[in-house]
Order: sequence, then structure tokens, then C-alpha cells
Amino acid sequence: MGSLEDCWKQILPSQAHVQFKPPTLVLFANQISSACGYASAATGPFYCPGDRKLYLDFGFFEELRREFKAPGDFAQAYVIAHEFGHHIQNLLGTMDKVQRAGNNNRLSVALELQADCYAGVWGNFAQKQGRLDPGDVDEAIRAAGAVGDDMIQKRTQGYVVPDSFTHGSAQQRMQYFTTGFKSGDMKQCQTFK
Ligand SMILES: [Zn+2]
Repeated sequence: MGSLEDCWKQILPSQAHVQFKPPTLVLFANQISSACGYASAATGPFYCPGDRKLYLDFGFFEELRREFKAPGDFAQAYVIAHEFGHHIQNLLGTMDKVQRAGNNNRLSVALELQADCYAGVWGNFAQKQGRLDPGDVDEAIRAAGAVGDDMIQKRTQGYVVPDSFTHGSAQQRMQYFTTGFKSGDMKQCQTFK
């Protein structure tokens, strides 16, 4: 969280001319009530734009390792960086726009892929600061792929329905994390075009 704050404190004003305000991290177990409603640990990590809080259940990291086969500290960092990316979208007004458009899978996928790309932008920053170990980027890319809609659908229902995707395919999620990571440039994260 400290590294993410350092990153966006610099990048958001310099690349998007928007002032950074930090989100609040809420750690929970079992269940929690947020401005976005009631959530259980089964929900997984999420960001609530209404209260600008990032909700994280540490049990998810165990799930990430065991169910999603994406172990490693940087796989976990990717998950937090993705949710932090939603906070950046909230500060930019992007979340508002998508919410006003109503339920729309195409916009939802664009929003999620952009959060992956922003997670990559942070990865670029962290690498420049010498915070990454060998293999870290691969851990993040593996995690981004593992939480792709097609991977989850294959595992939970045995078949894939692309029209029902809300987060993007494994291929797309890995691609957008990589785009952000290689460029360190928010402008490369134009998933809505
Ligand atoms: Zn998300």
C-alpha cells in the first residue's frame, strides 16, 4: 500500500493532472458491511467507490495460491494494485461514468482491464525503485491470467461464455497488465476505445 501510494502520488498529477488522495485499506475476515453493501469473504477483494475503501480478505490469498494456482508475494501485490487501480479510476471519474451507463458487460470489461493496466503502471514504478525480485513480474502475469473470466468459468462451470465476461479473458488481463508494466504510462491504458 505504501509503494502504491508513493507511485500514484507522483504519477496521477504528472500524467493525468489530477490530485491524488489515498484510499483506506480495510482488512476483514468472514463478512463486512461497506457503503457498497454487505460482502462476505466469498466476494473476494473489492474497492467501493462510495466510501473510497479497499476491502481485502486475507483468505483470498490462500485461494489465489491453492485454487487459482498463482502463488507468490507479487501475485498478491498484483491483486492489491488492481483494486488500487479502481481507486485511481474513481479519482478520475471513470467509475462514475461507467456506473451511470448502467449494467454493461463491455464497459465492465474495459474498466477491469484498465485496472489491470494501472496495476502494471505501478509495477513499472516499483521496478524502477528496485523493489522487484526476479520472477515477480511472472507471478503477477500468472495471477492476472488465473483470474480471467474464461479460466474461472472453465473451472467453475466447465465451459466458457464470452458474452457474459465482466473482467476480461486471461489473455486480455495478462496483456493489459504487461502494457502498463512495460510503458509505465497511463495513456497506454485506454481500454474504452
Ligand atoms: Zn476489478
